[in-house]
Amino acid sequence: GFVYGRVSSPTVAQLQDKLAALEGGEAALCFGSGVAAAHALICGRLGRGDHLIVPDANYVGIAELARDTLPRFGIEVSYVDVSRPEEVAAAIRPNTRMLWLETPANPTLRMTDIAAAAAAARRHSNAPLVAVDNTFMGPTFQHPLSHQADLAVYSATKFLSGLSDMLAGVILGRD
Ligand SMILES: *Cc1c(COP(=O)(O)O)cnc(C)c1O
Repeated sequence: GFVYGRVSSPTVAQLQDKLAALEGGEAALCFGSGVAAAHALICGRLGRGDHLIVPDANYVGIAELARDTLPRFGIEVSYVDVSRPEEVAAAIRPNTRMLWLETPANPTLRMTDIAAAAAAARRHSNAPLVAVDNTFMGPTFQHPLSHQADLAVYSATKFLSGLSDMLAGVILGRD
């Protein structure tokens, strides 16, 4: 229940319900920033010995998380041109637990076909979770969950909130 604000509150619960409705997801979880959402998702699902694929060009805060922080905790990271499905397929290992996409990417605006990248990852028996940073398009213009992604992630600091009025992040997906 609503016993403590960090766990949940009626205000945050309403926001999560509205964001899930906008995205077409079953559920949403809000965080204090977009990088906090990404960190919670990656570290909540991956641990020592697991492998993560990230784009070779993506948002600096998440690129720094992948480069500087995750390897210290034993998470292996590969940097891949995720706009090329054949490179995604070639990068998958038996211990790959997550494919991270960002499209359009910040700041290069490189586009990735979400469904094609997800399909390339899922050709393998131990299919990784597919998470898409959808910050740039927002839920008005692109719904990663309807393009075979498992999770949509936002910096709500950006277009979702009107840009720089606040800091927030959100993860959306199945309940
Ligand atoms: C800004 C941004 C983030 C990080 O969000 P913060 O709310 O600043 O932590 C993540 N992804 C993209 C694409 C961004 O533009």
